[in-house]
Amino acid sequence: MEKVILTGDRPTGRLHIGHYVGSLRRRVELQNSGEFDKIFIMIADAQALTDNFANPEKVRQNIIEVALDYLSVGIDPEKSNIFVQSAVPELTELSFYYMNLVSVQRLQRNPTVKTELEMRKFEGGTPTGFFCYPISQAADITLFKATTVPVGEDQKPMLELTNEIVRRFNHIYGGDVLIEPQILLPDNAACLRLPGTDGKAKMSKSLGNCIYLSDTAKELKKKVNSMFTDPQHLQIEDPGHLEGNTVFTYLDAFCTDDDFAQFLPDYKNLDEMKAHYTRGGLGDGTCKKFLYNVLNTRFEPIRERRAYWEQRIPEVYDILKKGTQVARERGIRTLEEVKKAMQINYFDDKELIAQQAEKYKG
Ligand code: ATP
Ligand code: MG
Repeated sequence: MEKVILTGDRPTGRLHIGHYVGSLRRRVELQNSGEFDKIFIMIADAQALTDNFANPEKVRQNIIEVALDYLSVGIDPEKSNIFVQSAVPELTELSFYYMNLVSVQRLQRNPTVKTELEMRKFEGGTPTGFFCYPISQAADITLFKATTVPVGEDQKPMLELTNEIVRRFNHIYGGDVLIEPQILLPDNAACLRLPGTDGKAKMSKSLGNCIYLSDTAKELKKKVNSMFTDPQHLQIEDPGHLEGNTVFTYLDAFCTDDDFAQFLPDYKNLDEMKAHYTRGGLGDGTCKKFLYNVLNTRFEPIRERRAYWEQRIPEVYDILKKGTQVARERGIRTLEEVKKAMQINYFDDKELIAQQAEKYKG
């Protein structure tokens, strides 16, 4: 079977280090592994409009920001198709048919949507489009017949729903038109849902608690220095706590033994550093300086690649246009199969036409 990746991001802001560990880093590895036949990376503008419908300018401005972030982390347009969701209308059509296969009650149980609704506090009620976005996500994944979806943990309920829709569709309309995708979560626990610099909720564009991939070294230092650590760790000699300590969560997500050799040779690895912190005697300042160095080495080359592409904006739009064409061709093919399975391909159905003609023959 063809191995296909589908994944994407909402153009609601620049991408942050939560996106990086939750999905982007994996995507680039998978892209370069050569194991996949096709890779589709979607800029989900239509989905972003479900909660930003009154602010289309925000979405419009951020399409290029997300595209620049993709290119800067190493998504290679020769190997991966980057495309814009709203320019593939087959996605909307497929979502409309999927709506019949999902109950309102089933949608109401989605824990990610529940949390997002609490956070967003829509005045005047939940927009129907937002409420249904998990269905449109199922369309995004299945239109491309994706087999692998590398995403963060918040996407788990969406993948479960997608698989339910696929099973239901194939059961009702017969055959095996649609394919059940596999979710690919980060293998490091700290990366499943990276917390924000405030240490509270997950790092999220909508919450203003982000370190962006495009932050300058100066901005990065400032953000790391103001990060949440252990409020009980007042003196250096006090024993420190690791649980809920965002500096250590980020170190879990990013640092390697090589970083210790380069920046903090007092310890061989993170376990040794953690042991010292827990027993007391290791100050937050040292930890933050180390974290800054680790993050800065990771993101320096990314910032440099971004600067290169920032000078080639028309070329970037061209990459999106080409990627969208390829995505659309695949989408059109799947939708034809879907409509045939649903028996709504009336004009191509010679048997139907003959049958109807027969019915009215003298
Ligand atoms: P918004 O606030 O607009 O929803 P977001 O920051 O949640 O933005 P999305 O575009 O919704 O970002 O998510 C894109 C991808 O990044 C998804 O695969 C999601 O699971 C992953 N992701 C987002 N935030 C994190 C995080 N803090 N940790 C790990 N993965 C994340
Ligand atoms: Mg989100």
